[in-house]
Amino acid sequence: MTNIEEKNTKEEILEIFDKCNRCGLCKELCPVFKVLKEEQYSPRAHAILLSNKVFEELVFKCSLCKACEKKCPFNLKICNAIQKARQVLNLRGKENPNMKEMLRKLENKENPWL
Ligand code: SF4
Ligand code: SF4
Repeated sequence: MTNIEEKNTKEEILEIFDKCNRCGLCKELCPVFKVLKEEQYSPRAHAILLSNKVFEELVFKCSLCKACEKKCPFNLKICNAIQKARQVLNLRGKENPNMKEMLRKLENKENPWL
């Protein structure tokens, strides 16, 4: 992804959250928020941070289950935005730390679980 592609991806994310009114209804069904109980892991937090062009590794905590989208009154494509944010982070060398570890184990022991 070039700088232009990154810029376009960020714009696409902004478009996705354009109508977000920060209501928080998306939090209701989020399994990650239910377990971790911290606002920063909620879909609303993702919406707010990404709308402000803040790209944190928090997006890797999302399971991409889409439960949040069922509750959003505007049917916003939250998962799509999170996936795009991950692409941006990957480009910056900030891959999913768990994935990185699995790949390292695969390379060294030919088994991602050991
Ligand atoms: S897609 Fe992510 S943010 Fe949305 S409900 Fe599932 S875990 Fe939560
Ligand atoms: S439910 Fe939709 S509009 Fe409300 S905070 Fe979540 S993403 Fe934004």
